[in-house]
Amino acid sequence: MVGEGGYKYQSQSGPVNHEQRFPTKQELKYKKKKKMMMIKLCFLAMALLCVGPANAQTQGVVFGYGGKNGPNQWAHLNPHFTKCAAGKLQSPIDIQRRQIFYNQRLESLHRDYHTTNATLVNHVCNVAMIFSEEAGDVMIENKNYTLVQMHWHTPSEHHLHGVRYAAELHMVHQAKDGSFAVVASLFKIGTEEPFLAQMKDKLVKLKEERSKGNQTAQVEVGKIDTRHIERKTRKYFRYIGSLTTPPCSENVSWTILGKARSMSMEQVELLRSPLDTSYKNNSRPCQPLNGRRVEMFHELANKYESGNKKKKTQLN
Ligand SMILES: [Zn+2]
Repeated sequence: MVGEGGYKYQSQSGPVNHEQRFPTKQELKYKKKKKMMMIKLCFLAMALLCVGPANAQTQGVVFGYGGKNGPNQWAHLNPHFTKCAAGKLQSPIDIQRRQIFYNQRLESLHRDYHTTNATLVNHVCNVAMIFSEEAGDVMIENKNYTLVQMHWHTPSEHHLHGVRYAAELHMVHQAKDGSFAVVASLFKIGTEEPFLAQMKDKLVKLKEERSKGNQTAQVEVGKIDTRHIERKTRKYFRYIGSLTTPPCSENVSWTILGKARSMSMEQVELLRSPLDTSYKNNSRPCQPLNGRRVEMFHELANKYESGNKKKKTQLN
């Protein structure tokens, strides 16, 4: 349905009418409305492929990270993307010390992932891992969100205390009501990341497929042991934001893990290698906080809460 750089429509064939007649004004209005609806749906579907639980083809991704379809232009690319400019709860953000509020009511992150089949997918705008079965869930404020996919951005989208990291992993979860919760991990350059190390050959294959011209290649990974990605976290930041790609839908619950992990430079390059040049840097710039609260959970702070307030203040 969607061609590169434009749209193709099948001819609208209603009931066969051998008596050719001009459509009435009302019919023309209806057809126009239907056509506009189809355009909107196509744009929406394409945009969600970069974040949602999609496994369809991604030809026709319309937004980019520079130039005419760069982040400053996203809102003008489609009427469904207006939130990208007009929204007040946008992501990513720079998490700065003075904006962080320690919230003792936050609980440690409860994630329960299962060993499951997965597929690595070139989503054009990022490299993603799609889970074919129920991969488990995360509980956030008494609401259950199921893990649907994860993908990487290079360099990081969120900044921590003004620092941009080499990469960021987004684990996208969705609740039954359709709302999203994303758990993000930041990576600095260092030792190999064990989860990615398991997938080295598959990432190389994704790159080779791209070289052969397969822009939206998929590589079966098989069973994934999610223990590496479920590691206990002692500290995280929580705020309400948006999808970081169009349509930039809001009210996404963000959890940014407080301790940056490491991956090797080679692994960063592997994540970038299946992507076209214009998507290798696939990070949206930081957005204004607009008075939002960024809350912090800290396991040790919760312990100190019982008595020692002095130490608690040092945790920021
Ligand atoms: Zn993302």
